[in-house]
Amino acid sequence: MKTETRLKLKRHECRVPGQATNFTLFALSPRLRLVLCTQSHSIKETVRFGARHAAVGVEKSVMAQVVIENLDKTFKGRKGESIRAVNNLSLSVESGEFFVLVGPSGCGKSTTLRLIAGLEEIDQGTISIEGKVINDVSPKDRDIAMVFQNHALYPHMTVFENIAFGLKLRKCSRAEIEQRVGEAAEILGLKDCLDRKPEALSGGQRQRVAVGRAIVRKPKVFLFDEPLSNLDARMRAQMRQEISKLHARLGSTMIYVTHDQVEAMSMGDRIAVMKEGVVQQAAAPMEVYRHPANMFVAGFIGSPPMNFFRGTLIRDGDGMYFQEGTAPGAVNGFRLRVGNDMAPRLAGHAGEDVVFGIRPENIADKSSDAVNGGTVEAMIEAVEPMGPETYLYANTGAHSFVARLSADCGVEGGRKVTLVFDMSKAHFFDPATEKIMVDN
Ligand code: ATP
Repeated sequence: MKTETRLKLKRHECRVPGQATNFTLFALSPRLRLVLCTQSHSIKETVRFGARHAAVGVEKSVMAQVVIENLDKTFKGRKGESIRAVNNLSLSVESGEFFVLVGPSGCGKSTTLRLIAGLEEIDQGTISIEGKVINDVSPKDRDIAMVFQNHALYPHMTVFENIAFGLKLRKCSRAEIEQRVGEAAEILGLKDCLDRKPEALSGGQRQRVAVGRAIVRKPKVFLFDEPLSNLDARMRAQMRQEISKLHARLGSTMIYVTHDQVEAMSMGDRIAVMKEGVVQQAAAPMEVYRHPANMFVAGFIGSPPMNFFRGTLIRDGDGMYFQEGTAPGAVNGFRLRVGNDMAPRLAGHAGEDVVFGIRPENIADKSSDAVNGGTVEAMIEAVEPMGPETYLYANTGAHSFVARLSADCGVEGGRKVTLVFDMSKAHFFDPATEKIMVDN
């Protein structure tokens, strides 16, 4: 017990499904993933035990705080048609994790969040928090706080009263309310606004009040549904940082919904990219960026998005090449040699149609020091100076694409340009399934 105190362990009693023993879960830090031990294990044994189970893949399902398994939700549309908002969704959010659900409008993000909060009824599947299935637990008993896009503050109440509202309903003592609201106001920089009404606040301050209402409840899990989308770009960037700092300070489990891939990339410990109710990929942001599982993810994460070129893999001598496909009657497409690291992994696909993907920053103009490159000639369609860099929109005759060039690249619209594609950063997708075949 002494050791536990020194390490500031958080203890969570829980039962592991299918196991007779009650286990104790310990969180070493907000970002540590939980380790698991019985009462009789030492800390050292505990960590070893956790590591061993992580290695065999048990950690996620046992130690995650929010586990969603095979979740389904279908709505009835106006004409009686079925709208499958969430389709066999399984996810595991770890204790203390900042987990982002990201995807285009209508992909089922908010419905997933509302199912976790208990605001929609589950058709099939289970949601568990700390090992306990909560499907039939009423929303108020789930120990979850949700922050919405429209922060819905009471206009006739002061900031203090708005933040304190939920605590009053729970019949907390005056002293406790003052202490908790004071703490939240301190964390959120609202101490000087406590006597103001919402009309006298900026959009960002109002959003912070909404967050304050959630914080004072000290919930197990925070849910955020597009909380920043009503703010202007500058305020969004600021609030992004503030919510990340808040997460670092509170160390709570947070599940955050957004359609904005910049928010997802910059805030999430892990992100799940959704399309049509299905999770396409769930991983750390840079993993998703560098190794997208399919063309949808590759096109959705990254701005400007990844470029795609349809074509064929061909073997010529001892080299493997990507031959750009062109429309009938069009000029021959470009041909690029596949890098030596990737060629062996594509050996079995010679002669097959593929989609070649490359990110805009992996295309350079010929005068730069690009490495591992193959050259492509294209017509410049548009040039967008962005300040620190320039976006060049060009067309090969068969495909349009965009390159991120240096600010001083000196390119002009209406001309031909020779560009260098860094083939060590190529991605090859199966055109039928759109899944990744090979990347670096
Ligand atoms: P957005 O970013 O636009 O909020 P989303 O990814 O959060 O989108 P959801 O709001 O979860 O998507 O909606 C998923 C699908 O379910 C959409 O097709 C939506 O029209 C439909 N839907 C959501 N709620 C209902 C409802 N109450 N009745 C009927 N259809 C619904």
